[in-house]
Amino acid sequence: MPLALDPQLRRALAERVRFYNELGIYDFYQREPRLSEVAEHASATVDVTLSPEFESQLEVREEMSARKSAAVQTVAGENAFEILQPKPEYGTADPAAALKLIREDLGDCTRCKLHQQGRKQIVFGVGNPHAELMFVGEGPGADEDTQGEPFVGRAGQLLNNMIKAMGIRREDVYISNIVKCRPPGNRTPERDECETCSPFLMRQIAAIKPKVVVALGAVSAKNLLAISAPMSELRGRWYDFKPSGVRSNDPTWQGARLAVTYHPAFLLRDPRQKGEAWKDLQMVMKYLGLDPPKKPVDEVPAK
Ligand code: URA
Repeated sequence: MPLALDPQLRRALAERVRFYNELGIYDFYQREPRLSEVAEHASATVDVTLSPEFESQLEVREEMSARKSAAVQTVAGENAFEILQPKPEYGTADPAAALKLIREDLGDCTRCKLHQQGRKQIVFGVGNPHAELMFVGEGPGADEDTQGEPFVGRAGQLLNNMIKAMGIRREDVYISNIVKCRPPGNRTPERDECETCSPFLMRQIAAIKPKVVVALGAVSAKNLLAISAPMSELRGRWYDFKPSGVRSNDPTWQGARLAVTYHPAFLLRDPRQKGEAWKDLQMVMKYLGLDPPKKPVDEVPAK
């Protein structure tokens, strides 16, 4: 039966798991609670007095349960626990096949309230399953919701131009979002929605194993890096990034480097910041060994 966890405890657990993942520990086992711990918990919440016979019985059973083999944690329905489970794609080394399995696992998702708030379809992600470069936005807008593909509206056109200016094509990269369903009225996705959906993005990243992830905007950066800071502090530097709660099938993949830049929708509202975004992309290009095209493309972000 799924455990009903206090959201704060769930977050603390997810943080702890992320910490272990960073240390390279991915497999977790659940020790059966020692009866004395159960009794301790019970005595902390209700006033229990144990008879001496029951106490000695506890000691014997505690010994027995300690000797029982450890069981893999299989509590379903709670994200903090879900990330401990082996995933269907762990058996395949092919990123395209892995992405397909992740998409199947996502199904016709009803895990968060966004499924009831007017979404037309799930916007999973698009692009090259072998991409060295991934862009992660916030969540689908109206155009993306209609077409089932991320970044196809006005912000998408600007993102396409940014990609072109880097000397590569949209088909060369992989593009996805923190949440896969359109938040109503294009509002910012809420914390519970991000927490429910982002494990699928983490799995996509682990399957693709990009060299670089570019977080588009503060919402994306905040969710990928689990830190909250203004864009001025987030941009202009590299982060070491390992998708939390999942493992890649490639033991040689040590994670990606992550850079943060402005969201294209923000650049549409404040084009003066395009030069700053271009600096972020140049940092990425340098790392990936990309030369910008000789002939400038239309609407190259102002340098
Ligand atoms: N904005 C986003 O964050 N993602 C999209 O897919 C489109 C617009």
